[in-house]
Amino acid sequence: MSLGIIRLLPDHIANQIAAGEVVQRPASVVKELLENSVDAQADHISLLIEDAGKSLIKVIDNGCGISDTDLRLAFERHATSKILNAEDLFRIQTMGFRGEALASIAAVSHVECISKTADDAIGSKIVLEGGKVRSQTPEACTTGTIISVKNLFFNIPARRSFLKSDTVELRHIYEEFLRIALAHPSRRLRLLNNGHEIYNLLPGNLKQRILSIFGNKVGENLLPIQEHTSIIRINGYLTRPEISKKIKGDQYFFINKRFIKNRYLQHGIMAAYEGLLPTDSFPAFFINLEIDPSEIDVNIHPTKTEVKFKDDRAIYQLLKSAARKTLGINAVAQPIDFEQENSFQLPSDFNGTPKIPTIEVDPEYNPFKSQSEQSRKNTTVHVPAFNIPKNWEELYQIAALTHPKNHQHVETPSIPDLQVESSSLADTVEIFQLFRKFILYKKENQVFIIHQQYAHERVLYENMLKSIRNKTILSQQMLIPLKLEFTAHEAEFLQNCRSLLSEFGFDYEWIGKKVIAVYGVPIYSDASNAEEIFRKLCEEQSDLTGPEEIIQDNLCRKIAISSSYKVGQSLTQEIMAKLVSELFKLENPAAGIRKRKTFVQIQSSDIDHWFN
Ligand code: ADP
Ligand code: MG
Repeated sequence: MSLGIIRLLPDHIANQIAAGEVVQRPASVVKELLENSVDAQADHISLLIEDAGKSLIKVIDNGCGISDTDLRLAFERHATSKILNAEDLFRIQTMGFRGEALASIAAVSHVECISKTADDAIGSKIVLEGGKVRSQTPEACTTGTIISVKNLFFNIPARRSFLKSDTVELRHIYEEFLRIALAHPSRRLRLLNNGHEIYNLLPGNLKQRILSIFGNKVGENLLPIQEHTSIIRINGYLTRPEISKKIKGDQYFFINKRFIKNRYLQHGIMAAYEGLLPTDSFPAFFINLEIDPSEIDVNIHPTKTEVKFKDDRAIYQLLKSAARKTLGINAVAQPIDFEQENSFQLPSDFNGTPKIPTIEVDPEYNPFKSQSEQSRKNTTVHVPAFNIPKNWEELYQIAALTHPKNHQHVETPSIPDLQVESSSLADTVEIFQLFRKFILYKKENQVFIIHQQYAHERVLYENMLKSIRNKTILSQQMLIPLKLEFTAHEAEFLQNCRSLLSEFGFDYEWIGKKVIAVYGVPIYSDASNAEEIFRKLCEEQSDLTGPEEIIQDNLCRKIAISSSYKVGQSLTQEIMAKLVSELFKLENPAAGIRKRKTFVQIQSSDIDHWFN
């Protein structure tokens, strides 16, 4: 082994390595800078972003400022005004305390910082490049700090090229901004993206802040949660189960006004909602926990979003019971039978007197016959579905049968109807629904057990993809436009991709800064689910970037998943027959679009075997 090889790394390299921990992407810079402004007691903070933070991230605050001697020090590693000894680590209340954020950021960008304290008559400006100080000069300015971070990762090209698309990076930035905004509703916070004002959040209480970010629907459905004990104070809001969404998302925990991720605590809240939510849907919540800092260790993670509690089981229990109480007091805790719920959707023209629906049933239906055979013979018969119902239960059944899916505001244009095929008279229709989940279909000496949701997803996906590729996609128009409210940055996203979405049949216009009126959705989508589709698009904006084929595939997949018949939904014979027929026309009917099979097949001889 040769001697004299070990060397201390030069400072700027050590800083670059440390930077990797703190600065992963533009949003990490945003987080650190906003936290510093909050720590500096600023009550007015503006964030300016250019090119998704890749060319500029600028934060302007009216906080306490930094003196000229401290300004140079602030960019040294382990420079912090917030900690003097190791014990302070356990007492710390402020956002940052590692004293490495500014040094790390400066190591991988061009930084310019202008700052002035209230005691100084004139401020100071420092310019750094890749961590090296280029100049420091006096500068006339008001009390507070303006810090600009330019050309992030200019000296680490590999890092820069690993950044995601602007849409993705921006989404992370907005998320960091919202976390700070929700934790500090009493401060005014603005966000400008490429010169456009996206948020201008005025000081207020938490409820007002939630409302100004998430809109009226969330704002009007907040339920306060509060529990004060000797170890912890819980304050905040849960949302009513009715407005839960199909996407995880707006779930916020703050500890001492710092955003944290904690799956265990999140589970505690979700457990309190048990029985109140439809499957796969998520409530929003905004919960601040105040706890003695010595009861937690926030320093386990470089970006400080994960927190360890001394007694996390006690906190879990407290949180769960507080949430249970909130949901109980607000009389939402009567478990809803979601199995039942689908069948309670009465037809839109229901006026108290049930109409006797007719169902077109082809008694000789067989989806496996070829097109030519299909056109040869069409023996559709119209049969009254039911007699006039004698009781409510029956009425509901009729409602479910006549209106399994369609929204009352929607006029569905006719999709080229698949004529139900027929074979020999002897092969009567043998198609049943099982557990509101499977379609049991017998064909000759085989039985197919078809998963209604996966099968329908596949059919919708293929149909949509085909029409998109043939440029024949149509929009189904809403009779009454659907009004939807979004957060400011979601609205910006929808504005930007409007022409792209219109090619898919989405037709919407702005009727307010953050409110759109939806006039039409793609023909294969379920219009009653238009809201969910829009929210999903906003949730995964990255799906709409990249090569055309990928965007098409992503969109079709998304629409198919949110528009398909769901488990728990009653399907009429007619609908089942049509679905089976369409499914088996596909090239590969067995594969679901979510890596699950769409059906299993049993031979009658297999069944014989069971009894041998
Ligand atoms: P930390 O926040 O962990 O102390 P940073 O590197 O983020 O470390 O900041 C270093 C120091 O610079 C802070 O301790 C604080 O004294 C000062 N500072 C940074 N940003 C601001 C600001 N916006 N206003 C006032 N002081 C600031
Ligand atoms: Mg800091």
